[in-house]
Amino acid sequence: MNSDSGCPCNHVEWKHEPLKRYRCVDCIESVLRCKDCLLRNHESNPFHTVEHWTGKYFEKTSLYDLGLVLHPGHSLSLPCLAPSKLQAFTVIDINCIYRTTICFCRCSRAIPDHYQLLHARLYPATVTAPQTAATFRFLEFFQMLSFMSKVSATEYYSALERMMDNTGTDIPKSRSHEVLRMIREWRHLRVLKRSGVRYDGVDDNASGVLAVKCPACPHAGINIPTNWWKDPQKIWLNKAFFALDANFWLTRFNVSNEERDLALNKGRAYMVDDCLLQQHIATFQGHWPPEKSDCSDHDAVKLANCRGDHNLATTGLALTTCARHNSIHAHSGVDLRLGEEYILMDYSLLSSIKNFPNLPITISYDIMCQYSKKLYQRIASYPPILHTPTPFPRYQLLVPKFHLAAHKQDCVWSFSYNYAMGIGRTDGEGVERNWSTQNALSGSTKKMGPGSRRDTLDDHFGDHNWRKTISLATLIYHKSLEAAKMRPKMVTAYQDTSEGLDESTKECWRTMVTEWEQDLDRKKQNPYEPKVREYTLNQIRLELAREDEELIRTDLAAQAVSSRITRTQLISQGLELEEQQLRLPIASRRPNNLRRKINAFTEVQALHMPVTVIIRQQQQQIPHKAAQATYDLPLLLPSEVLLLGSSCDPILLDYEWRLRYGAAHDALEQMRKHLLSRNAVLGWKLRYGHGVREGNHSQNDVDQLTSKILACAARYQIHFKMIQHFSERLGKVNWSKSLKPLRGEDIRSILRGKDGDPSGEGYVISSWIWNTSGVDHTDEENIAECLRISWCKARSRALRWQEDCILLQEEMRRVKEFFQSSQREWEYRAENTLDPGQQAYAYRQAGIRERMRAFCIQKWQGLDELLARGPGGFSLNKKHEFVC
Ligand SMILES: [Zn+2]
Ligand SMILES: [Zn+2]
Ligand SMILES: [Zn+2]
Ligand SMILES: [Zn+2]
Ligand SMILES: [Zn+2]
Repeated sequence: MNSDSGCPCNHVEWKHEPLKRYRCVDCIESVLRCKDCLLRNHESNPFHTVEHWTGKYFEKTSLYDLGLVLHPGHSLSLPCLAPSKLQAFTVIDINCIYRTTICFCRCSRAIPDHYQLLHARLYPATVTAPQTAATFRFLEFFQMLSFMSKVSATEYYSALERMMDNTGTDIPKSRSHEVLRMIREWRHLRVLKRSGVRYDGVDDNASGVLAVKCPACPHAGINIPTNWWKDPQKIWLNKAFFALDANFWLTRFNVSNEERDLALNKGRAYMVDDCLLQQHIATFQGHWPPEKSDCSDHDAVKLANCRGDHNLATTGLALTTCARHNSIHAHSGVDLRLGEEYILMDYSLLSSIKNFPNLPITISYDIMCQYSKKLYQRIASYPPILHTPTPFPRYQLLVPKFHLAAHKQDCVWSFSYNYAMGIGRTDGEGVERNWSTQNALSGSTKKMGPGSRRDTLDDHFGDHNWRKTISLATLIYHKSLEAAKMRPKMVTAYQDTSEGLDESTKECWRTMVTEWEQDLDRKKQNPYEPKVREYTLNQIRLELAREDEELIRTDLAAQAVSSRITRTQLISQGLELEEQQLRLPIASRRPNNLRRKINAFTEVQALHMPVTVIIRQQQQQIPHKAAQATYDLPLLLPSEVLLLGSSCDPILLDYEWRLRYGAAHDALEQMRKHLLSRNAVLGWKLRYGHGVREGNHSQNDVDQLTSKILACAARYQIHFKMIQHFSERLGKVNWSKSLKPLRGEDIRSILRGKDGDPSGEGYVISSWIWNTSGVDHTDEENIAECLRISWCKARSRALRWQEDCILLQEEMRRVKEFFQSSQREWEYRAENTLDPGQQAYAYRQAGIRERMRAFCIQKWQGLDELLARGPGGFSLNKKHEFVC
């Protein structure tokens, strides 16, 4: 009989008994069955949704309404001889909630009820008389989903409720409390299992024992040799990188309290133990009051001085991450109460450093210039629990690369990753990147009790670290390819810069720069810093930002329109867009992207300069103006508005003038730099460029540099035109001493004679552009300084890439060793346990480490040699002879 006419069991014919038709919507077969067959078929798939034919349509019903009973520990073919009486039982599965019927086993082989459930892969909501359970696959799936999408358990549970009944006529009794509890326990049990704390020889209470370690970072006794400190040349290789930051998204409302909602992880993973933290706060509160910043007005510092929100128990989170591999350091999460209080930031930093005893340490923080002032005094005042045993009493202190632009010039020299030794190409921005993924967690954690929140954050941070671990093979692979490409270029560029210089000069600069590098307090004379320095765009931006702030404070009208963007920001942005427009016809990349930016710009511009709305409308009337190319779109900066005959706020014009003044100086400086580089390449070409290939190669370099030089000149011309045109109206004087009309013949290198003839001795200047001092004559000291800075920068670039190559080789070694070590560790656990389940789990973990190591070896084949090849390259085993 085919299923169109009856049930495959041949006992029921549909034409006689049409209402006995049932179907399962979860099974892959789309066959109608009778009730008995349906139940028999679902004995091992008890969580399927089934439907019954009413004569008119298929109506949802349930296997349990039809008589299915869950029999943990038994099957239909092997029923329990002494079952408990039937009871109602709720099961939460991955896509639905099931109201089931269960009978527990009470025969001679009976184990406690909750174990019976666990054996059936059902997680009980409680151990005594359970009435609710979640399937393992639900818990596993939700955990993964929450890692990836940050959905909250409540949201997910609501979805399940609606999957069960979306009509409001059959609402199931809420089990959300049970679900939240089970998820929390599940997260905790999984982290315990993965960390191996239940095996012999694992210290259950060690700080950070539940955290996932970064395999590429140095860990004593795991992946660095015991006598790593013996070779002074290689000490820097064992540096641990710390990036400190605070996040003000991860807040928590004032609900529940520490007594009612204890954390299960108790400071053994990423969040520190609250009890110890509170003691620290109680002891040191008010000891180190916030100080006024002497750098630019950083948001963070401002927040430290402001008051917290009364509804919030926690206003944010301080966290320390690995600045090189972006994993989160164990034992570093500290709840903030106000802004970035130093005593709490210290606590985060020092608690995490403790896991890297005796290693050299690099720390970056976006307000390091302020934070570092009394750092060592504060550390000295803390109890021994926060002291790290270290033979390196000084830390290397830095500011993340992209944050540095907002600092005053002194900070740029002192805290830059570019000029710090033994850093490689690290940028310290990892924290920010981490936040962008963790911020989404704020929605689900801000209404949690303190303990739940900490445990949940711990679990997410653990997953974050594991994802970093599994992506290391690829990350290091790509970094290595880039480093192998860039290092020879940078080393050659440095050698070229050195070429024409006499030995004594180089020796003098070398001494100067190495002395400065070795002085961690940065008190020695800075070789990168010009003694006489004109205004730069950055300085002017900072200056204007301060004035703007002052204005906004006193001017209500300005306050209203400045909510999205301040006036100086607007003009700055306009100038940036103008620059991008200039570049566009040459590069012709992403015109739509720029168009979008310009559109956004015109929107906010309308707030500060309403007149531009009218001008734009008028321009739209003119046909050829309406359809302009992106690089021609009018930005209507104040000067342009005035030239068009409309009026404009003189303050805005003044802002534009000053920003252009700085930008003109920047363009000149860029141009001088490119001219020096081009000279070096030309010299190199003259000396060695005999072969066709090398000839072409260096010709490309020359062409590229030439076009950059011309681009700088074009930028300069635009700024200069406006500066000159409006200087009288704005009453500006003295500017013409350093800025002059730029003619073609002014664009020359500093060497004598024709451009590119390196035979010239001394420095004879033919162009005013080399006159950087602002004094109206050229002087030798100035040129020497220019050369020195250029040489020092070329040197530090070459060094950073060289270091990166060496670090990458070392990291590859460390990762492989780390996996091997943890494979051995799991094997040891497997061999030393009598529990077969624990043993199998340990062997599986060992197997995973073995596979990961093999994957790395295969992925990194040939990289060691690649990193050691070419000018400036060498392998780790050889002596460290850097270019310097
Ligand atoms: Zn049948
Ligand atoms: Zn089914
Ligand atoms: Zn039984
Ligand atoms: Zn790391
Ligand atoms: Zn600063």
